[in-house]
Amino acid sequence: MRPDLAQQIEAGCAVVTPNRRLAANLKHEYDARQIAAGKSAWPTADILPFSALVERVYGDALHSGRAAGLPVPLAPAQELALWENIIRESETGNSLLAIPEAAALAREAWRLAHAWGLVPRLGKYPLNDDAKAFQQWARRYEAVTRRERHTDGARLADVAGARVTGPEIRKPGSLVHYGFDLVMPQQAAFFQALSAAGCEVTGAGPEPRGGGRLRVACADSTEEIRRAAAWARARLEANGAARIGIVVPELARQRKAIQRILSAVMEPGYALPGNRHPAFPFNISLGEALTTYPLVNAAFLALELAGREIDFERASRLIRSPFLAGADAELTRRARLDAGLRKRAEPVVTLDRLLALITSEDAACPVLAQRLVALAEFRKARLFGGQPPSAWARAISEALALIGFPGERGLDSAEFQTLARWHEIVAGFAGLDRVLPRTGYTDAVSRLRRMAADALFQPETPDVPIQVLGEIEATGMAFDHLWVMGLSDDAWPRGPRPNPFLPVELLRAAGVPQGSAAGMLGQARRLTGEWLSCAGEVVLSHPRREDDREFKPSPLIFAVPEQPLPLPGYASYRGAVHDLRKLERSEDAKAPPLGAATVERGGTAVIRDHAACPFRALARHRLGAEGLAAPHAGLDAMERGTLVHRVLALAWAQLKTRSALEAITGAGLDGLLRQAAEDAVARIRRERPTVLSGRFAEIEKRRLVRLARAWLDVEKRRGGFTVLATEDKRRIEIGGLTLNARLDRVDQAEDGRRVVIDYKTGKASPGAMIGARPDEPQLPLYLVSTEPDAVAAAFAQVRAGDMKFAGLARDADVLPDVRTLPDGKLKQAEPSWARQIDAWRADLARIAAGFAGGNAEVDPKRYPDTCLYCDVKPFCRIYERLENALEEDAE
Ligand code: SF4
Repeated sequence: MRPDLAQQIEAGCAVVTPNRRLAANLKHEYDARQIAAGKSAWPTADILPFSALVERVYGDALHSGRAAGLPVPLAPAQELALWENIIRESETGNSLLAIPEAAALAREAWRLAHAWGLVPRLGKYPLNDDAKAFQQWARRYEAVTRRERHTDGARLADVAGARVTGPEIRKPGSLVHYGFDLVMPQQAAFFQALSAAGCEVTGAGPEPRGGGRLRVACADSTEEIRRAAAWARARLEANGAARIGIVVPELARQRKAIQRILSAVMEPGYALPGNRHPAFPFNISLGEALTTYPLVNAAFLALELAGREIDFERASRLIRSPFLAGADAELTRRARLDAGLRKRAEPVVTLDRLLALITSEDAACPVLAQRLVALAEFRKARLFGGQPPSAWARAISEALALIGFPGERGLDSAEFQTLARWHEIVAGFAGLDRVLPRTGYTDAVSRLRRMAADALFQPETPDVPIQVLGEIEATGMAFDHLWVMGLSDDAWPRGPRPNPFLPVELLRAAGVPQGSAAGMLGQARRLTGEWLSCAGEVVLSHPRREDDREFKPSPLIFAVPEQPLPLPGYASYRGAVHDLRKLERSEDAKAPPLGAATVERGGTAVIRDHAACPFRALARHRLGAEGLAAPHAGLDAMERGTLVHRVLALAWAQLKTRSALEAITGAGLDGLLRQAAEDAVARIRRERPTVLSGRFAEIEKRRLVRLARAWLDVEKRRGGFTVLATEDKRRIEIGGLTLNARLDRVDQAEDGRRVVIDYKTGKASPGAMIGARPDEPQLPLYLVSTEPDAVAAAFAQVRAGDMKFAGLARDADVLPDVRTLPDGKLKQAEPSWARQIDAWRADLARIAAGFAGGNAEVDPKRYPDTCLYCDVKPFCRIYERLENALEEDAE
């Protein structure tokens, strides 16, 4: 801190800064100076941002005996709500789709107009349609606030300035405005009023510093951030007390990348489990929307679920949120519950539907269920009709309390601060009674969400040496080392960004920087000059390219010499671990063998999966791994297939023989199939009540009847037969493995020959059931293990427009369309039926023995096709293995 400024403060001078950050920084420097001087106590320095000074003056006026008639300031959320109302009710605004966005722009225009003294001149410039609409809204806004005796942030400096001479106002004897890039007319008028009231007002800024200045070109902006991060770490390691600044003109756009890269460079293991909030040595000035914080997000998920309906994915996040009652105690069960719900839920759910699903799931989560029931009851009792915001704020807090928000585990400091900010937002929402009429629950929650999204927030951190700042925030600050990035010819100076509600000519005439290219150039020149003089070491950098665009350095930094900047290479966490590696190879493709008495669940899928890839079978059937299902609307292919199976099973359970099929009348068959379709649909609706409702159920039943009729016409092409079994439970014993399975159908021809049949609603091919690793081993499996005398194994391909039997048979006449052996087109088939049976017996026994013996090799039958839709991919890490194999081959 400048010694002269410190002396002035000690003498009682107030210091006013353009923003809070600079005020806090100066205060910190002043206190450090007092400590260095050996003092143990000293009067608090009167250092505050301009807005706080204005509020203090107005607060004195409001709390004095002369407060009668003073307008009451509106909070920012109240201002926005009022603008929204006015725009919505206006002729020009009621057709707008994005009223909240228009209100935010109008409020900003109103603020700019007052800060730059534009209001009296507004009518003197030609107005486009936007500016005309704004004038109309502004007149209405002014009239409403005058009538209600309100003022706002834009006018507070004018209102306070007019009262600054009053005896009730605390005025410092002298005041320094420090670090202002520009003193706007409204600020100048306020300082003038203070001066007229006897306060000596002067201006100051940091003392210019000299030292090394250099320009650095980086490959792209990611490389630029990486280099700045490494540079900051190197400077900090050289001097732990150094003050380091990183200025990022596009901070809002780059915030996430900066946070990620700085974190990785400063604290390489920051993302490891258990390292929830590492103490980083940097602070990013720009906060994030409050809605992005998990705690606040959880609150909104619960509030939205209590409304109409939400996407299942959002409900799923709520179920797994740590910010609900019982979250820790039911952690694993809630994860299981979520996995189960995904199989039956629709893509969009209501609270009642979610509760019904939860109640019918096996994974018991009593606390969650109980809290959601309480929320559902509360919704019926309290969350309806129109209510004022304060009543909604109370109801919202009660609803959140009912689900146990914010959970039972202790909040850490960052979460605690987030919760406090959330409470402030809800309290601010309650304060909207002054400007908002009664509103419905959904509107109330979406307004609250907008307020939280507008609230940029970040938990406070202890004083840290590295400050990451936006371009304007660095004004007035002093550093030992400063890096300014993003200064390419494309980005610096920035282009003008005039507010669309204010005439551009007026902005230009008034000298508002964002109103014109010349204004932005002037501002960029001033800021560049300040950066170059505010630190001992200054590095200015720019990216050379971004996507396919190439950049040069901004002309404003061209005079600074480009120089190499050697930096230490800091290893990433991954790199550090890799460097320490001591590799040991261990082949682990063997799981413990199964016990002799084990009955494997999963039926014939165990054999099919093991044939496709031994590891897949192990993961799915012994370790219980399965991919998370994605909720879907209507029926998926599997459910459609199940319905067809069911209808045909019910139909044959009644018909039993081909002669009965021949004998039944068309109307009789229709009735029978209709009833079977009714039963099948009713069964699936017991599982998923909303999946087939009303007209959709009718359409599906008609489809099923049509399909079944067409299939039964195919069956009529066969000779006489009896259906011996449908959906028959069988116990299969093979290769030391015992499986419970269900056989679709066994028929017996009039001459006693038996065939096993499996329904398929997709394409079926006899080739899929042969070979050492068959894709569809179920029919051969039934055949060799439970129907050894059968003479055919065939898929019944029940597919609209392509109905047929597809299979292998000993005799060509036993079923239409089946193939007999030898068959030149079936390369892997044996030359005769008897040899094929022997091959099946041997192959299937070997596969079963492999599974029972614990073979767990990652060995897909046909890579990559076999792996394409495999849901245990993340588990087997096939891609990493292949990459390693390729690297080894290359070596
Ligand atoms: S992804 Fe491929 S290699 Fe991995 S388990 Fe599945 S089938 Fe086997």
